[in-house]
Amino acid sequence: MIKFENVSKVYPNGTRGLEDVNLEIQQGEFIGIIGTSGAGKSTLIRTINGLNNVTEGTLMVNETNVAQLRGKALREFRKNVGMIFQSYNLVPRVSVIRNVLSSRVPNMSFLSVCFGLFSKADKLKALDALNRVGILDKAYIRADQLSGGQQQRVSLARALAQDADILLADEPVAALDPVTAREVMDDFKRINKELNKTVLINIHHVELALEYTDRIIAVKKGRIVFDGPSSSVTQQV
Ligand code: ADP
Ligand code: ADP
Repeated sequence: MIKFENVSKVYPNGTRGLEDVNLEIQQGEFIGIIGTSGAGKSTLIRTINGLNNVTEGTLMVNETNVAQLRGKALREFRKNVGMIFQSYNLVPRVSVIRNVLSSRVPNMSFLSVCFGLFSKADKLKALDALNRVGILDKAYIRADQLSGGQQQRVSLARALAQDADILLADEPVAALDPVTAREVMDDFKRINKELNKTVLINIHHVELALEYTDRIIAVKKGRIVFDGPSSSVTQQV
């Protein structure tokens, strides 16, 4: 469902973000992308939802050539790809449920997040997502009153409520303490297994990646230097 064919990405300043990447990812896979800072992990993830344009080769996602999408078609495409960031990217003074609901409408304005009216079906969808990440009881609390781990769960619930088949997470546990990081990884794993979502996680913490994900892709200087089952990885990666 995600296929990179000889994909390279050169940034406008000439930096090479990806070099000749070939990858095939099926629906329902749980993948950890590892590599040091600057290796190209973010670039790889961001090309999948069209945040980064590909400069060479072809990237197909669900039979769509991402490079050819513009405007409305790109916005429609992105509904199917949920993003989770290290920094959560929540609207701080607004309730948790409104933050989750914001994903139901792409490019929602700040005012709509604060005051917009949502259908009962949308609210049920948001509450179900919060329940799946174990913070249903926090639905009506301001997002900035939650701990880091809870805020990351809100961000995961927001991506779930969007009904995306693909979840992309850019270092979702890097800012969390080790215990909380594991709890959030548990949530990702559960969601991957229960809902058959395709999950790609950038994670510089190799042990966590090996423990939780099913497939490891290691990136170095924009190239894929390893791709295989997590269980097959030895110390040499
Ligand atoms: P990390 O190591 O956490 O992935 P980086 O330091 O590589 O973060 O990048 C942080 C942000 O700065 C990213 O959004 C990336 O796109 C941007 N960035 C990184 N390097 C450059 C650069 N040379 N020029 C412009 N933007 C950059
Ligand atoms: P990682 O996520 O593994 O830390 P990135 O994908 O952020 O790596 O970065 C890969 C390379 O691309 C780095 O050399 C980084 O500096 C560069 N880069 C990232 N974003 C930009 C940008 N917006 N403009 C220019 N160079 C960038």
